[in-house]
Amino acid sequence: MEPSELLAKARARAANPSDPLETLAAASILSQELSRDADALLDLAVHHARAAGTSWTAIGDRLGVSKQAARKRFAKPFTHPFATRRTRREAACSFCRTPPGPRVHMVHGEAGRICADCVALAGEIVADLKAKAKH
Ligand SMILES: [Zn+2]
Repeated sequence: MEPSELLAKARARAANPSDPLETLAAASILSQELSRDADALLDLAVHHARAAGTSWTAIGDRLGVSKQAARKRFAKPFTHPFATRRTRREAACSFCRTPPGPRVHMVHGEAGRICADCVALAGEIVADLKAKAKH
């Protein structure tokens, strides 16, 4: 759409079309709407490209940005399966409440879970008890 057409559209929306400042205010709002529409257009086009198997590298090339920038701008934020607070709490170590994570090794039992740190601590406690029992 031509700028003069857009200005006419803004003027038609202005409370008082003969007041240039009212037209400017309406143009500002229209500009924000167009900007949101433009963003939505790109989001949709990228979504379709991704659905068709296009790489982030190719998408970035076409948009004139890096693969990382394209992914950061358009990729849906990754939601970890343990992302919700309740699920994190339920999946936490039953002894120390450490939540699950990529670096937390957890042993799952029927009534709960135990993290590797608690397994090690439990091992030391049992070893101490056995050593004391011998004396
Ligand atoms: Zn633990």
